[in-house]
Amino acid sequence: MLKIPVANIFLLTLFLVICSCITTNAQSAKTFKWPDGKRAALSLSFDDARLSQVDIGTGLFDKYGVKATFYVVPDRMRPRLDGWKQAVKNGHEIGNHTLYHPCTANFSWTRGHSLENYKLDDMRDELASTNQQIEELLGVTAVSYAYTCGQTFVGRGLDTKSYVPLIAEMFESGRGWLDEGANAPGYLDMAQLLGIESDGKDFDQIKPLLEDARENGNWVVLAGHEIGAGGKQTTRTTMLEELIKYAQDPENDIWLATVAEIAAYVKNSGFTQSDAEIIHNKKNLEKALTFYVSFDGQFDADFSKGNSQIFTAQTRDKLKEAKPGMNSDNIAIAERKGKYHDALEFRKKGQAVLYYASEQNIAYDKNDWRGTISLWLSLNPEQDLEPGYTDPIQITDVGYNDAALWVDFTDKNPRDFRMGIFGDLKVWNPENIGPDDNPDFSNRLVKAGDRPFSRDKWTHVVISFANLNTGNGRADFYVNGKLQGSNDHIPEPFTWDLAKSKIFIGLNYVGLMDELAIFNKALSAEEVSFLYELHNGIRSILPQKGY
Ligand SMILES: [Zn+2]
Repeated sequence: MLKIPVANIFLLTLFLVICSCITTNAQSAKTFKWPDGKRAALSLSFDDARLSQVDIGTGLFDKYGVKATFYVVPDRMRPRLDGWKQAVKNGHEIGNHTLYHPCTANFSWTRGHSLENYKLDDMRDELASTNQQIEELLGVTAVSYAYTCGQTFVGRGLDTKSYVPLIAEMFESGRGWLDEGANAPGYLDMAQLLGIESDGKDFDQIKPLLEDARENGNWVVLAGHEIGAGGKQTTRTTMLEELIKYAQDPENDIWLATVAEIAAYVKNSGFTQSDAEIIHNKKNLEKALTFYVSFDGQFDADFSKGNSQIFTAQTRDKLKEAKPGMNSDNIAIAERKGKYHDALEFRKKGQAVLYYASEQNIAYDKNDWRGTISLWLSLNPEQDLEPGYTDPIQITDVGYNDAALWVDFTDKNPRDFRMGIFGDLKVWNPENIGPDDNPDFSNRLVKAGDRPFSRDKWTHVVISFANLNTGNGRADFYVNGKLQGSNDHIPEPFTWDLAKSKIFIGLNYVGLMDELAIFNKALSAEEVSFLYELHNGIRSILPQKGY
């Protein structure tokens, strides 16, 4: 709540408004369900076609009627080909694990086939040949893939490419390795299923994963190598027997099946985010976007319905003399330091005030005003900020307590991070009582419970507001896609002299800022989460500017 003398009214107090979310999309309205009342799913998978998988493993699984998934390197099946043929007959799944098992060249054994020396086409050819050999040897088509060494890239440095899209194109699913969690239907990417190591573990270590999966309706995919009594890279038969008995106990409601079978069920449920849905979500965001500045090599907005120029006033008292352009020694573009590409860096607290014009850039509506403000911050508030209130963003025509929307860090360590939304001062605080003595002020602030700020990472901040100026305004405050709190009682109006309203950025702020975007609708929780996860950021929703 930084006080900016703009015209001639300033005081403290406020109203904060934050509200509950706006629309619920169809996906969240229904609930994903596993078949037959099951509460979680489990797949057992094994890599490399190790001898012990058919010498010991398949017999054990057959005894319990369990079907497992084996991601094979075709050549390694040859010494036990009859065993593998029998495994297929008994219903086990055969997946693809490449011909040469390429991994990073840091592993000496892979140097003839290191991923750093692969190109996407090399990988495509090898995956196709692997499938062909599996067909020739076993008469089945592999629809599941496991990333060798869990690595998903080819090339090196500037030439590195992800081969996840290739897997998405060629297979029903792709499984990782040494992951730390289960897969969540409705959110998971089939081309990047998480695989949890089963080698060297006792059932006591696996059981909590299953219990957690049952709580959350998730799908655990275990990944191992050898199967036996014990030893290097070995999934123990004792663990497997306990695990299978647990999974098969009807009380535990676990669906134990191959990766292909469960993947097909999840896909057919309509709950996975398809490419079509992603495009649909991006188009919705693009349609609602009114202002966006990437700070990639420039201070002016990349996209704006109104004036794209940044303005600098030398002090807060001199807003009338502000000039277009960035004109402060303390502020610069920090190359390659952004959440995406470059960032805006406030090196130290200064007098200069930066802003963009509000008009058209924020879809102000005197009858029913709604919108969303999204930005990314990177700083250590306690170490970087100087004493005093700090507002990374403040949008108002007068001051922080008069028809204003903002987020701030409080003035002393430890710093609280808050959302403030206050309509016309003369309505919500007619006596003009100062903020320190005014419970109406503090009661309307929403304080973030999550405060993950650090210099090493980026934190996403969103204000989503609706129905302002209707007598029934509301707003939601999100940090990293998670709702921190809402204010669903914002009755007072927000009366703006639109020509004077400004989008102030970095008031007293010290740290990095990136990806400031404003939308003309109140984004839902799902949309905020989509925005938080958006690969390559807002730029990727602008078709003409996509990377
Ligand atoms: Zn492997």
